[in-house]
Amino acid sequence: MDAAAADRVRAALVERLGRESVVVSPEDRRLASADASRMFTDCLAVVRPKDEGEVVALVKAAHELGFTIVPRGAGTSPTGSAAAGAGQVVVDLSRMDRILAVDARDLVAEVEPGVLCGALQARCEEAGLFYPPDPASSRVSTLGGNVATGAGGLRAVKYGVTRDYVLGVRAVLGDGSILDVGGRALKSVVGYDLVRLMVGSEGTLGIFTKLTLKLLPKPESAETLVADFAAVDGAYRGADAVLAAGVLPRALEAMDGEVAAIVADYLGEAADPTLGSRLLVEVDGDREAAARDADRALAALKAAGATNARRAADPAEREKLWRGRRSISPAVYRASPAKKSEDLGVPRSKLGEAVAAIKAAGRAEGVRVIAYGHAGDANLHVNFLYDPAQSGAKERVARTIDRAMDVVLAAGGTISGEHGVGLKKLAAARREISPAALAIMRGVKNLFDPRGVLNPGKAVPAEEDLCAS
Ligand SMILES: Cc1cc2nc3c(=O)[nH]c(=O)nc-3n(C[C@H](O)[C@H](O)[C@H](O)COP(=O)(O)OP(=O)(O)OC[C@H]3O[C@@H](n4cnc5c(N)ncnc54)[C@H](O)[C@@H]3O)c2cc1C
Repeated sequence: MDAAAADRVRAALVERLGRESVVVSPEDRRLASADASRMFTDCLAVVRPKDEGEVVALVKAAHELGFTIVPRGAGTSPTGSAAAGAGQVVVDLSRMDRILAVDARDLVAEVEPGVLCGALQARCEEAGLFYPPDPASSRVSTLGGNVATGAGGLRAVKYGVTRDYVLGVRAVLGDGSILDVGGRALKSVVGYDLVRLMVGSEGTLGIFTKLTLKLLPKPESAETLVADFAAVDGAYRGADAVLAAGVLPRALEAMDGEVAAIVADYLGEAADPTLGSRLLVEVDGDREAAARDADRALAALKAAGATNARRAADPAEREKLWRGRRSISPAVYRASPAKKSEDLGVPRSKLGEAVAAIKAAGRAEGVRVIAYGHAGDANLHVNFLYDPAQSGAKERVARTIDRAMDVVLAAGGTISGEHGVGLKKLAAARREISPAALAIMRGVKNLFDPRGVLNPGKAVPAEEDLCAS
């Protein structure tokens, strides 16, 4: 689309949707074009709808004016799934941020897609309820984005992931029609499960305008434990020991000693140079159950060789420990000129050996590899640190990542446990999804979005790739 045509589209959008909902300045366009993958491009315009009617009007305009649409929540996706390019209009759902209902008897919430995950969590807490999915980005990411990526998080080991809490989805499809599936019933087995199909669809099947989410009663109490180990794989053995003791914590978060040192530096604290790995454990339930589980977990951690295993003394220390966990991503960004990160998953029993094999692959290529992640559900965040100014560094990192994917796929794992495919993992996804499954996925896309206006080229490798396989 040339510059004059782009100006005509912008003017037509302003005419149809009004100045309040359409943003066309170059700075705003650039900001809305990038997500946390840092893929910067320049979209045509940004539409910030105030309601579903404006989303429908936008999809109809896409057909008439010839552009495609990239749905956007908060843009925290690390995969490029919310990145937009030339000829694309970003639909930023952040203005649709009303919590429509929090119902303690039905145990459901109804929300618009732009509500921040943390805002719903806080509102539920006030009502004595609990929305368990807790991505580390919960304070800044939207529920629409969480559902569209099938976000995981810190409490998945006990409570599952976003997918397990989505009861209903209302969405504008690629032809501008509305699909309203699921609802307040906590169980339904009527027809194919289209709700589950929409979860993790990365904005390629529909633009969510309303979500119905399952809630739980708020656990009375939670206790956080921290355990340090001299060995790099100590934290994984500690996690095994806690589960083997019959305790199902709500969080089991492991990190290398190197990661803990990077975070300590970021937070201005002293690092322990002898630390091989650290495990954070959080148990919850009624007061007695949480205390009993904390005792059993502590005993198991000590028996597994923890050099220092203890309860957080008070809420302030609990908050400090979790702040450290949530600071890993920005801390690592500050610690290295560049990094690539992968969220790999393996069967639980393969966790320690997968990390060791990936680190060995890094050593062979001269790439520094650090790891942390959700030890309970064996979803690893592996970071590959490098200096792009060094000759051949990018290629060495790419080879190490390729090898890391070999490792997890050979172990029966996955190339993405929670961030999804986006743009970044399109090629790699073909290693995990069979040609037969890919063909079905393409068919599903065609049904929801026959003219391919919704987030094209994301999540599922294109047909031309399929033919080449
Ligand atoms: C510091 C940090 C920590 C993180 N921790 C975690 C973690 O623990 N677990 C985890 O899973 N992820 C994590 N992430 C990744 C990211 O936060 C999640 O993928 C999150 O769900 C994205 O939400 P968002 O609102 O930012 O969506 P965006 O990044 O804006 O969009 C993500 C995808 O959702 C689509 N989308 C957004 N809104 C809609 C809508 N209304 N309708 C249809 N499609 C839509 C977009 O098109 C895109 O494909 C982390 C990211 C950062 C930066």
